[in-house]
Amino acid sequence: MRSFLKNLGIFVVAMVLLAFIANVVRVSKEVTPTIGLSELAASIGRKEVKTVEVMDQDLTITLADGKKEISRKETGESLPNVLHTYGLTPEQLQGVNIIVTQEGGWRYWVGMLIPVFGPILLIVILFYFMARQMQGAAGGRGGMGFGQSVGKEMVPDEKTKVTFADVAGMKESKEELEEVVEFLKNAEKFVGMGAKIPKGVLLMGSPGTGKTLLARAVAGEAGVPFLHMSGSEFVEMFVGVGASRVRDLFGRAKKIAPAIVFIDEIDAVGRRRGSGMGGSHDEREQTLNQILVEMDGFESNSGIIVIAATNRPDVLDPALLRPGRFDRRVTVNLPDINEREAILAIYAKNKKLEPEVSLRSLAERTPGFTGADLANLMNEAAILAVRRKMKTISMNEILESIDKVLLGPERRSHVFSDAEKKMTAYHEGGHALVGHLLKHSDPIRKVSIISRGHAGGYTLKMPTEDKHYYTRAEFIDDLAVALGGYVAEKLVYGDEMISTGPSSDLRTATRIARDAVTQYGMSDLLGPRTFGTREDLVYLGQGVTEKDYSEKTMEVIDSEVARLINDARARAARLLENHRDALDRITEALLKEETIEEARFVEIVAIEKGSGAQE
Ligand code: ADP
Ligand code: MG
Ligand code: ZN
Repeated sequence: MRSFLKNLGIFVVAMVLLAFIANVVRVSKEVTPTIGLSELAASIGRKEVKTVEVMDQDLTITLADGKKEISRKETGESLPNVLHTYGLTPEQLQGVNIIVTQEGGWRYWVGMLIPVFGPILLIVILFYFMARQMQGAAGGRGGMGFGQSVGKEMVPDEKTKVTFADVAGMKESKEELEEVVEFLKNAEKFVGMGAKIPKGVLLMGSPGTGKTLLARAVAGEAGVPFLHMSGSEFVEMFVGVGASRVRDLFGRAKKIAPAIVFIDEIDAVGRRRGSGMGGSHDEREQTLNQILVEMDGFESNSGIIVIAATNRPDVLDPALLRPGRFDRRVTVNLPDINEREAILAIYAKNKKLEPEVSLRSLAERTPGFTGADLANLMNEAAILAVRRKMKTISMNEILESIDKVLLGPERRSHVFSDAEKKMTAYHEGGHALVGHLLKHSDPIRKVSIISRGHAGGYTLKMPTEDKHYYTRAEFIDDLAVALGGYVAEKLVYGDEMISTGPSSDLRTATRIARDAVTQYGMSDLLGPRTFGTREDLVYLGQGVTEKDYSEKTMEVIDSEVARLINDARARAARLLENHRDALDRITEALLKEETIEEARFVEIVAIEKGSGAQE
């Protein structure tokens, strides 16, 4: 849109300029006549005129005494005719030398052509800019028709080639894709055996988990070209463009087969049709239909394999998942601790790290990080080291970058009053201390009163190993930790002084309690079943959002959630009251040091982890 406005600007400026030129040309010709035509006729009658030069409508008169006058006549009318109407006889005219000259030079032509061709030229220019802008938005290949595909084609060569070795971890995903590589390499073998080669593979996983990377690695391993197009690129301004782009993309693939067609973010076009969610979008439907037509259109042994990626497999149209289309599905998971270590190793390779840097302990500190997060983390650390004028990257820079990636950049410029700082310190101290005293809560890794992103301060707790299951005891303890900040503020400052700070904590607590009751069957009263419609159920149920429980049950759920939260609050209050001295110690240290790492925290608290479980 911005470039469109820019083009419009250029257009307007060009208009003004041309109008100006045309004006100058005209104005320069407009010399005010010094005498009228009747006067001229009278002069000729008195034989005072020697010559009259006629140039179009302008008359330049030279008098017998050498004086020059200027006059005008109507265009088209010949001078003798005009003079005749003023009563001059042809005889009287004979004494006058009439010279007719053509107007010439660039001025004449510009004056002639601009009014005729100027507007046409401007319209052509405007269209040219619009077309260029549209293509620019579509991928920046100039000089192509509107409907043509703008997919990027990549023939892997030795330098740019990505192989499975560049993808850390993901053993299962790689194994499944290994098969696809085989299909591309030795299609005849499979066809000879009568096997049908799959046409489509769907990669499913959160953003940043390496789906695009994996697809490129498949192309690299098989040594075939890689046609890349993003779902959002199909759907653009003009109706029908998406479908013709799909046609073109597959047309090109057929020409260079064997090849991989990679459709990134397929959910942008492949959403369930006609569900009315997000507005039924004709253009999208046409594009999706064309993809289906193309996938049905080529033979399964034609050497084309379509790989699509999405992070929302739940919203995809079932037609896409039918046999013969994307019937192979590969899940790309968040990396586990070993995979994180391997990914970190890849991005540590070309960086100067201090020998003390332990990738293992970094992997421990980064559960939930995607491959992209980890790549970003190492990059941030390198940037930080450069800014600090260091020769190598130390553990410190990387740890700081973890917080940055996790919580956003520090907001040191955010000014807190001393009173606010103290309240934040008590708040974070409350979370941390409750977390430390409870047995099933993850160890506290870091407490800080430096503002980051939206948080005033933060307490980082993290398991030592990746967790896939949560126990009921963990839920209960986490609930108390979530309320620890709120409870500490209340304990120290009293009810009146409770700040607006803990509102997100209260939301977290409510969510934990609700999930425990409605999703994990952790309430004895309600029993082992789930309640309500989660988002994925909404989609699977074709958009039905009915509650699957009665009004009466709803009341029980509410009271169970309230009970859990109240219990947790009472528990946190008890712990903090019993260990008020430790809370004060943490607060004091936070005010002085701002950020406290795990070891220092344990030293300050001076109580064994989990020793408050019975209180
Ligand atoms: P997605 O397509 O799933 O959103 P990408 O493939 O674009 O994710 O991954 C983003 C970046 O993260 C990659 O370019 C790569 O640098 C890094 N990355 C992700 N996963 C891995 C991995 N397993 N090994 C190495 N790098 C990875
Ligand atoms: Mg991607
Ligand atoms: Zn908090």
